[in-house]
Amino acid sequence: MSTTVSTELPQRRELRTPLPGPRSQELAQRRTAAVAAGVSSTMPVFVARAGGGVIEDVDGNLLIDLGSGIAVTTVGNSDPRVVAGVQQQVADFTHTCFMISPYEGYVAVAEKLSELTPGDHAKKSALFNSGAEAVENAIKIARHATGRTAVVAADHAYHGRTNLTMALTAKAMPYKKGFGPFASDIYRVPASYPLRDPAGMTGAEAAARSIAIAEKTVGADQIAAFIIEPLQGEGGFIVPAPGYLAAMATWCRDNGIVFIADEVQSGFARTGTWFMSEQEGIVPDLVTTAKGIAGGLPLAAVTGRAELMDAVHAGGLGGTYGGNPVACAAALGAIETMAADGLLAKAQHIEEVASARLREIQSAHPQIGDIRGRGAMLAIEIVQPGGIEPDAALTGAVAKFCHERGVVVLTCGTFGNVIRLLPPLVIGDDLLLEGLGVLAEAFDELA
Ligand SMILES: *Cc1c(COP(=O)(O)O)cnc(C)c1O
Repeated sequence: MSTTVSTELPQRRELRTPLPGPRSQELAQRRTAAVAAGVSSTMPVFVARAGGGVIEDVDGNLLIDLGSGIAVTTVGNSDPRVVAGVQQQVADFTHTCFMISPYEGYVAVAEKLSELTPGDHAKKSALFNSGAEAVENAIKIARHATGRTAVVAADHAYHGRTNLTMALTAKAMPYKKGFGPFASDIYRVPASYPLRDPAGMTGAEAAARSIAIAEKTVGADQIAAFIIEPLQGEGGFIVPAPGYLAAMATWCRDNGIVFIADEVQSGFARTGTWFMSEQEGIVPDLVTTAKGIAGGLPLAAVTGRAELMDAVHAGGLGGTYGGNPVACAAALGAIETMAADGLLAKAQHIEEVASARLREIQSAHPQIGDIRGRGAMLAIEIVQPGGIEPDAALTGAVAKFCHERGVVVLTCGTFGNVIRLLPPLVIGDDLLLEGLGVLAEAFDELA
């Protein structure tokens, strides 16, 4: 495999200027004049190149990437197989629209999705451009297949920013405030949040709570779908109590409700298995994917039971760009890299290395109220010592400290008090530990 320019980026952190440097500052001025203020950035640093675990900015600074562009560049930036597939495809043809004249790449991605998503039942897929679009289509399919309209979503859920997915998303700021009215017939239930649920609440008990509310306020026979992220992402990297998802899946099956696992963030090797659902022993009826699927190109999918997927009339699903051939080529390259380069095991290795280091930091800093996650989808929840009162101010300060020192970390959580780690799976241990060392310094200095 020939290496690309990006993988030759030195794999180290190196700051040549304070951040943001002068060229980034110039670009930031142009940006402010031309780009809508509603589109904001975590770091005011403009990118020149990226690869492995490093982002190089336009001033020649090398940053450690612990965010993967929000869990997208799971195989690293400009992965050689992604680059090769894209280069070939972009030279052959860029677009015909699969709904007009189809091409093999789309079919090959659908075949991979059938093979890799949980369960050995007959499956089919439809491809889209973004995670939100995949979620919208999963709901369309579930409604059409069941003839019902109600949809039940979870507390702390994040499913996107389009109108229907805003309705499914829990958090008002910044995702929903001022953007209503929202799509109707969406209901929310508490799910399972072990740190904040009553002490000792089991997964089965949390599921009984969800089910009781859904049955009382909606009625099981009215519900087309229950949708949940098996490991909740933007809401705080919440891992449900063991058995929660299985109990919900059983209730769905018993009541003819489509169980939709939104694996847009947790899917495609991120959590150490192809999909997070596997780790909870569930087989969802529909799975939505995006983010890590295509090494950085925009692609998304709904994959599910063939009889559900085929319930929709011909022409009822699609879109101009859905399953674009260049994005499909990227996905085939990314999936091959995950399999051939052992990235599922690498995600598990990252969990071992990072969670051990995080526990060390926690032992000196009681502000770290919880360490959780799976694989390379890990987080710390920051609280007032001695309790679980969220400390968003300290969280923001810790993130800023890391950013100023060239470590890209992201925050999340309904209460804004979670620092999440989503490193590319190709990151080296040294770089990962150096990034976590800066996180440790942040706590030493600020906590
Ligand atoms: C990011 C995300 C989405 C939305 O994906 P976009 O590509 O941003 O539209 C949906 N669901 C989950 C779980 C996500 O993390």
